Amino acid sequence: MDTFNIKDMLASYDTKDLRIATVCSHSSLQIFNGAKKEGFKTLGISVGERKKYYDAFPLGKPDEFFIVDDYKDIVTYAKELRDDNVIIIPHGSFVEYLGPKNFLKLPLPTFGNRNVLMWESDRTKEREWLEGAGLTMPEEIKDPHTINKPVIVKYHGAKGGKGFFIAKTYGEFVKRVDMKKPYTIQEFVLGTRYYLHYFYSPIRKNAYELSKGSLQLLSMDRRDETTIDEVQRLGSIAELEEVGIHPTFVVTGNIPIVLRESLLPEVFNMGAAVVEKSLSLFGGIIGSFCLETVVTEDLTFKVFEISARIVAGTNPYVAGSPYAELIQPDLSTGRRIAQEIKYAAENKLLEEILT
Ligand code: AMP
Repeated sequence: MDTFNIKDMLASYDTKDLRIATVCSHSSLQIFNGAKKEGFKTLGISVGERKKYYDAFPLGKPDEFFIVDDYKDIVTYAKELRDDNVIIIPHGSFVEYLGPKNFLKLPLPTFGNRNVLMWESDRTKEREWLEGAGLTMPEEIKDPHTINKPVIVKYHGAKGGKGFFIAKTYGEFVKRVDMKKPYTIQEFVLGTRYYLHYFYSPIRKNAYELSKGSLQLLSMDRRDETTIDEVQRLGSIAELEEVGIHPTFVVTGNIPIVLRESLLPEVFNMGAAVVEKSLSLFGGIIGSFCLETVVTEDLTFKVFEISARIVAGTNPYVAGSPYAELIQPDLSTGRRIAQEIKYAAENKLLEEILT
């Protein structure tokens, strides 16, 4: 199929017999678990062999595995997967393993709006979107000579914070920077980090109401990043840097967290503004997204990133979170995605939530 039309792709689908599929990594246990709870069949796409560790988690194990030699080969099996009524739930690793170009071309019904990728992966466009929505982002330092406060240097496309570093002066910056790679310099925001997990439904009006559809807050986490989060066991960062030990920002896990309740209205203001802006910029984000924030000492949010699909920070909440529990007991993000697909299938609205 050369066309990339969701209507055409869905034309041959038996919408009463959909199968939810994703790549066996990242948040797949939760996605399969949530899909099973909503009565879907599931398919785990895996490289080389079926992942044995799923046997240890029967409730998170896909009903069947689909083995490929390389994730990029998924494209060549698209017809076979469509014949099996497969709907793809993309997560961060899915997009990374496939490569953004292949992901955008993948002729399979995919949960969410794939157009969001160009707005999220290009830091200039991301800033246009988030600042355009009225959110406050960390200041961007265009000229490294002007560094006069702590900054974080981020390489473009670096996954999981790899290679990021902190500098407090121009001298520290030049000592560490790799000029061969494109980078961005951002003010290092002092405060506490909250990664907010939203769910936006363009087709349901049963939560925080927006101009189209409604918004939920399902959970939040704090990422555990090595070595920055524990390096102080050895000494202060300044002391360690003097002997050439530099903290790194590689994500290794996620910690559940809740926020001061008085900050929740602002959480919804921000989420709502991001969705409304996305509707005017590119037809709207769909489903799960995460705002990565720092709350400063004057209790304001600075948003340094958006992830426009299910994030691994939702994994602590397979059986619900302190927020999701107030929507429906036992509601994970994976389950919420399955519910959205189920509702859309029953109401002939699949084209509204798949691309
Ligand atoms: P990112 O890849 O943008 O999510 O950044 C990786 C990690 O670096 C984050 O999870 C934060 O711990 C940290 N970080 C990123 N940007 C900032 C910032 N502007 N101020 C403070 N910490 C940041």
